[in-house]
Amino acid sequence: LPTVMLMGRPNVGKSALYNRLIRRREALVYNTPDDHVTRDIREGIAKLGDLRFNVLDSAGIETEVSSGTILGRTTAMTANVLARTQFAVLIIDVRAGLHPLDLEVGKWLRKHAPQIKPIVVMNKSESIGSLDEVASEALALGFGEPIAISAETGLGMTTLYEVLRPLLEDYTVEMLNDIGSQDDVLTDENLSDEIDESKLPLQLAIVGKPNVGKSTLLNALLEEERVLVGPEAGLTRDAVRVQFEFQGRTVYLVDTAGWLERTERDKGPASLSIMQSRKSLMRAHVIALVLDAEEIIKAKCSMTHSEVVIARRAVEEGRGLVVIVNKMDRLRGRENSEMYKKIKEAVPIEIQTVIPQITGIPVVFISALEGRGRMEVMKEVTDTYKRWCSRLSTGRLNRWLRKVMSRHSWKDTASQPKIKFFTQVKARPPTFVAFVSGKTQLLESDIRFLTRSLKEDFDLGGTPIRIIQRVIP
Ligand code: GDP
Repeated sequence: LPTVMLMGRPNVGKSALYNRLIRRREALVYNTPDDHVTRDIREGIAKLGDLRFNVLDSAGIETEVSSGTILGRTTAMTANVLARTQFAVLIIDVRAGLHPLDLEVGKWLRKHAPQIKPIVVMNKSESIGSLDEVASEALALGFGEPIAISAETGLGMTTLYEVLRPLLEDYTVEMLNDIGSQDDVLTDENLSDEIDESKLPLQLAIVGKPNVGKSTLLNALLEEERVLVGPEAGLTRDAVRVQFEFQGRTVYLVDTAGWLERTERDKGPASLSIMQSRKSLMRAHVIALVLDAEEIIKAKCSMTHSEVVIARRAVEEGRGLVVIVNKMDRLRGRENSEMYKKIKEAVPIEIQTVIPQITGIPVVFISALEGRGRMEVMKEVTDTYKRWCSRLSTGRLNRWLRKVMSRHSWKDTASQPKIKFFTQVKARPPTFVAFVSGKTQLLESDIRFLTRSLKEDFDLGGTPIRIIQRVIP
């Protein structure tokens, strides 16, 4: 199991969070800031949704930090603890704001474990109206934007889950690659649906060149829906985050700030800022790439270089992708041209050509200006998100595998790889491990075949799929 260390100066609520994570109440919650009682580091198995990890309560270190003797007698203990820690949560008390000792803890961590980038959480945020000020103070720690939680009430635990989940899962996948014991594989039991991930808020990035109609589309979407604009508690990861509800699901539009508030200067070169888009890619679950129908036609149905780059990168980064062809109203009156007839056929083909590794990327033709097609956009976005969150049980996968392996025509039986066991290790995006035995390993083409079959048989269009091969004796 991966290990997460809880760090923080005394009295920020470390024990309270520890107790919540291990679901025990017995551990004492110290309430006196000057408590210098040396405590051992406590360790337990944390349960957060369907995540399981070791959690360390670094009370000992905390005491040393606060008494200013960090480098002294903790060195041995530190080495021991850090050697088996992969992740850290740095807790601050939102009511106190950023405290000088918080910075000390940060410095300590940077010095002793430079490989760990802690998640900063602002605890005790249940009673605080605006967290912005503390959130921006906390940036001084240099570990990125904090998330708001309340260990007492449980507020923000879903956000913590959302942030931890990909980190822990990527770690699990890496471990499988490195050591790869079958015991580490999540079984169906682990894949419990305590938290239905597809119901979690969807982070959507609308990207595209300037003037393709991103703002217009956003307005069309917001007009339809209940709108909440601006930063709010627990959502401090984005400076500005536009939020709305679509059919009972919360949707965050990430990184819209850049193009909503842009100036003429930014309208400059008609290409898509790759840097800005890369940031969107890291934050978004689904990327909606907006193209301009007129331009597409002018370019004989091909996408520009920057659009191709961004679409490919979305897939490489494991994001869901939906392509939107906007300004269809501009083609009115030209319905008889060859190009017009072909555009609906040609764009999906173009996309399939530039991104051969994913099939079934949804393409939606709309007029943002007239508000036509916006429901379809949201339907494809949410469907893609659901597929991106898919989890398939090991039983089902292995039954499928048997069928699919017999369907494939291998050159000869000797060249047929023996997949002993096939299992999904994570979702968002769906990632599978194939345990292969014997001399014949899976070739690139076998992996492509399995990927394609998975997509078709389990309807996973528009989401990247990863298959990792593990060779077992
Ligand atoms: P952004 O830079 O991608 O945010 O693009 P904007 O939303 O600002 O739109 C750029 C221009 O295209 C504006 O003049 C819009 O009115 C226009 N536009 C956007 N969507 C459509 C559409 O569906 N049809 C037409 N005809 N014009 C559109």
